Amino acid sequence: MKDPQKLKELILEKIDFTQVLLDYNVNFVYDPRRVDETQLHCPFHGTDIKPSARFYKSTQSLFCWVCRKRWDVIAFIMDKENMFFLQAIRFLIKKYKIDISFIADSPEFVMSKSIPSTIDNYEKFISGNQSNIDLKIIGKKIKSFKRKISFKKYNALSTAYHMLDYMFFKGNDISSDLIKLKNKIKGIKNGNC
Ligand SMILES: [Zn+2]
Repeated sequence: MKDPQKLKELILEKIDFTQVLLDYNVNFVYDPRRVDETQLHCPFHGTDIKPSARFYKSTQSLFCWVCRKRWDVIAFIMDKENMFFLQAIRFLIKKYKIDISFIADSPEFVMSKSIPSTIDNYEKFISGNQSNIDLKIIGKKIKSFKRKISFKKYNALSTAYHMLDYMFFKGNDISSDLIKLKNKIKGIKNGNC
């Protein structure tokens, strides 16, 4: 498969964050197409009476003073769509029809032959795949633990999830590791961890 880092660079180069924000109907104070910087109502932290966020066109970044967080287009999609990194990358490539064909498959990221290499076919393939269905459920569960368990535990779970998502994306059989992660989550739910 293609190197996720290269896909990320391509996305940052090809996708206009301004347009993505407009597509999500965020509440800008000024039309971001006409100004270099503009305030906006933060799309994340709930009611935002004063526009707390600022969008910087030159650096294609969004910053909120209340959230104290900075987003690029990928981070924005991760938070907005509740996705992990690779999911957000796939989502953006598909939604904004980014041509990734010229990025050569990297030998380090060889995907098994049974998995289609184009994003469209890949989406079709994974939508019915049990490991992928399990991954999605586990991802949601882990997100629901945020701020309810210690940051260390949350971080460990989400790192484990990322690894499996990555391994799956590379075409590995992750079913036995998924069971281990599921059991870990069950343990947390029952208060054993
Ligand atoms: Zn905010």
